[in-house]
Amino acid sequence: MSGRFVVVGAGTMGLGIAYVAAGAGHAVELVEVDRGRSEAAAARLGELWDRAVQRGKLSADEAAGHRARVTLRAALAEVAPEPDVVVEAVPERLDLKRAVLREAEGLRPVLLGSNTSSIPIAELADPLARPERFLGLHFFNPVWAMALLEVVVGPATARETTEAAVALAGRLGKDPVVVRDMPGFATSRLGVTLGLEAIRMVADQVASPADIDKAMVLGYRHPVGPLELTDLVGLDVRLDIARTLQAAYGERFAPPPLLVEMVAAGKLGKKSGQGFYRWVDGRKADGEGAGR
Ligand code: NAD
Repeated sequence: MSGRFVVVGAGTMGLGIAYVAAGAGHAVELVEVDRGRSEAAAARLGELWDRAVQRGKLSADEAAGHRARVTLRAALAEVAPEPDVVVEAVPERLDLKRAVLREAEGLRPVLLGSNTSSIPIAELADPLARPERFLGLHFFNPVWAMALLEVVVGPATARETTEAAVALAGRLGKDPVVVRDMPGFATSRLGVTLGLEAIRMVADQVASPADIDKAMVLGYRHPVGPLELTDLVGLDVRLDIARTLQAAYGERFAPPPLLVEMVAAGKLGKKSGQGFYRWVDGRKADGEGAGR
């Protein structure tokens, strides 16, 4: 199956999912309500294809073929019914995701997925008429480089839906894990724990962000330190996840005040140019940002 693949939300994750789905031969519709974000996503996708050609990963013809398979849409209402897959990648807020999923379900997709990092699938499925077709499809950032797809099975998810998701992972070149529906699943619960503690350590002035990261990279063989990873994910995204996990598991996931302050100040990490590091043209600049 390389049919129609709809992605809702053209932020960090949505555009990555669209890029990978187009590369796997799907006709992709990328739905984004914010005009500026939509234009930025189109430009970023263009850069990704150009870079793939420059690096010899795709021929110019292949890149042009992938590019031609992605169409930007301003609303779900513009998408024709009965796509094969719909994946929502809108911000990590329950009400917003529920509204988007309910509207997406109206298109009668074969498979309906959420890229949520932490919200239980059961809660997202609550307003759905066909929860058996719905599950978590948790991609990782950057989607084109990360092999994992966390497939999250809700209480109402049908076995065929899980099987279809695992098969989809293979077609997208991803390696799936199938996990039970618990807040934070297998990945965010552990990853966010580390990120939040690293932020508390910055606030406690244990070491600089660069040295905290270096300690984990050199001492524990993490490919990226927890603070740089927080910058890559987005501080606002991590704050939303922390709040979801706090509601589920209690104070051990309470967001550190420094994280709340930084998000309020617009220091969102790579996407805003400033987080625990300074970012220029999508690259980490020398030295550290005004993380505090
Ligand atoms: P983002 O803020 O970069 O992008 C979200 C996009 O959705 C924005 O462009 C926004 O304008 C758009 N949007 C909002 N409402 C919409 C609607 N009704 N219809 C269409 N578009 C709409 O967020 P992100 O980092 O891409 O995260 C998206 C989801 O993926 C979240 O659930 C997040 O938890 C999850 N996730 C994020 C990462 C990460 O590293 N950033 C990793 C895995 C999962």
